[in-house]
Amino acid sequence: MKIVALKPHGFCAGVTAAIRKAEALCAERPGPLYCLHEIVHNELVVAALKAKGFVFVETVEAIPEGATALFSAHGVAPAVRRAAAARSLEVVDATCPFVQRVHQAARDFAARGLPVVVLGKRDHAEVKGIVGEVEANCEVIAPDGVPALVAPGGRFGLVSQTTLNADEVAFAVQRLEADYAVETMAEVCNATRDRQAAVKAFCRDYPGEGTALLVLGSPNSSNTRRLCEVAACRTFRAGTLEEVRALDFTDVAVLGITSGASTPESFFTAVLAELGE
Ligand code: SF4
Repeated sequence: MKIVALKPHGFCAGVTAAIRKAEALCAERPGPLYCLHEIVHNELVVAALKAKGFVFVETVEAIPEGATALFSAHGVAPAVRRAAAARSLEVVDATCPFVQRVHQAARDFAARGLPVVVLGKRDHAEVKGIVGEVEANCEVIAPDGVPALVAPGGRFGLVSQTTLNADEVAFAVQRLEADYAVETMAEVCNATRDRQAAVKAFCRDYPGEGTALLVLGSPNSSNTRRLCEVAACRTFRAGTLEEVRALDFTDVAVLGITSGASTPESFFTAVLAELGE
C-alpha cells in the first residue's frame, strides 16, 4: 500500500495559539483551571489538558466564582462574557482570530441595521457565539438554505462558520447574491480551505477504486468531518491509534492521510509510523 501524507497537517495557527494559552496557564498557576467548552474539538488535546489539571465545563455557572476560566477557540457570545464578569472570573480568551473577525463582521452589519444571516450549524459552539453578537434580527441557515428573515431582493449581511465546505460556502454566496442584496463576509478560514484543497487534489491525482483517504481527527470536529465529505474516494476517520489499528485497509492500493486542524502532529506522525510509511 502506497501512503501519501497530505499537507498541511498538524495544528492550524488558531489551535496552536489556543493550546499555548492553556499550557501557559498550567505552568503559571495551580489547578483547578476551567475551560468553557472543549478548547478545540480533539479528544487527544482535551485528554492531555485534563491530565494537566483542566476541568472542561459547558456553562459559566459550572465555574466557581473567582476562578480562572479559559474560553475555547470557538469563541463565545457577549452574554457569556457578561456572565463571567458577574462571577468575577479571571478570563483568558483563546478565541481564534479568524473567528473574532467573523464576530466583528456580524457586529458591524448589525450596527448598520442589517439583518445578519449565518451560514452554519446552529448547535455548533462557534455559531452560537456569532449569533450571540447580534441576538435579534439574525438567522442561521445551511449553505443550501434560504433566509426566512429577508424577502427576496432585500439587503442583509452574510457571514459563515469558519469550518464549512469551502465550495458550498462559495456556491451559497453566488446563489444568494442572485436573489438578494447581499453584503458578504462569508468564507471559511485558510486552514479549512487548504486542507480541503489538498484532499481534492489527492483524489484527482489518484483516481481509481484502490484509492482511499484516512482522516485523522475527532468525530465532533467540524473541519475534520468536512475533509471526509469533500473526498471523492473511500474515506476512513480515526481519532486515536486504537481506532487506526481497527481499520481494514485490505483493498487499498493508495492511502492518503490528512488531519483536521485540531489534530496533534504527534498523532499524525505516530500513524505514519504505524502504517509503515
Ligand atoms: Fe481558527 Fe480555522 Fe483553526 Fe478554527 S480551524 S482555530 S477557525 S484557523
